[in-house]
Amino acid sequence: MTRILIVEDELEMVTMLRTYLTSEGYDVDVASNCAGAISAATATPPDLVLLDIVLGKEDGRDVFRELRLMSDVPTIFLTGRGLETDRIAGLKMGADDYMVKPFSLGEVSARIESVLRRASGATSNADTDEPSMSFGPLQINELTHEVRLDGELIELTSKEFALLAFLAASPRRVYSREQLLENVWLSSPEWQGGATVTEHIRRLRSKIEVDPDRPRWITTVRGVGYRFEPPHAATSSNEESTEHADS
Ligand code: CA
Repeated sequence: MTRILIVEDELEMVTMLRTYLTSEGYDVDVASNCAGAISAATATPPDLVLLDIVLGKEDGRDVFRELRLMSDVPTIFLTGRGLETDRIAGLKMGADDYMVKPFSLGEVSARIESVLRRASGATSNADTDEPSMSFGPLQINELTHEVRLDGELIELTSKEFALLAFLAASPRRVYSREQLLENVWLSSPEWQGGATVTEHIRRLRSKIEVDPDRPRWITTVRGVGYRFEPPHAATSSNEESTEHADS
């Protein structure tokens, strides 16, 4: 369960955030001042901190400095002050994001998800929203390990993702099961049989193919192996003719 620590002194705001984030499935902890925040974070380390800058007479940024001495826990600053200079100062300090009150609850969860996603990819400065490989309706993002088909997120295991990303990195190039074992499993064919590859291809197809028996993205080249097929608009007519020679 993802644990979020809310550091805020305004009761109404705390209640609203706690109720909402709990309903979203997060494990929520609350602190209203600097000392409370540090002891809460020490007792049970949070996965993310929502930190208000104004904590009565205290400054939330002091909490942030203390937290950073302990860990790199992703932190989103909250503030009632919408001044651009505050925003920049917060980000310069190393905050992962910044939200200006009033914000909608939808915005809160979107920011939290985005910051957690970035943190898990350990690529805090990269633009993780851009897919690294895009093939019409199929988008593969190697930073976030996400695959989208027609905009919909496809749940893949890490090995299924690695297999798809490897094949898609060289569209139409055929790889044997042995080559896939060596490159995706980093394992010698002598240690692991080709059946491992066959099984993972089958599972991957069941997730990304409309008709897994007549695959459109990952095709079998009989007697050789598998290849990734980009959308036809992207292939030249020359390559089209070689496809017919295979079958
Ligand atoms: Ca406050």
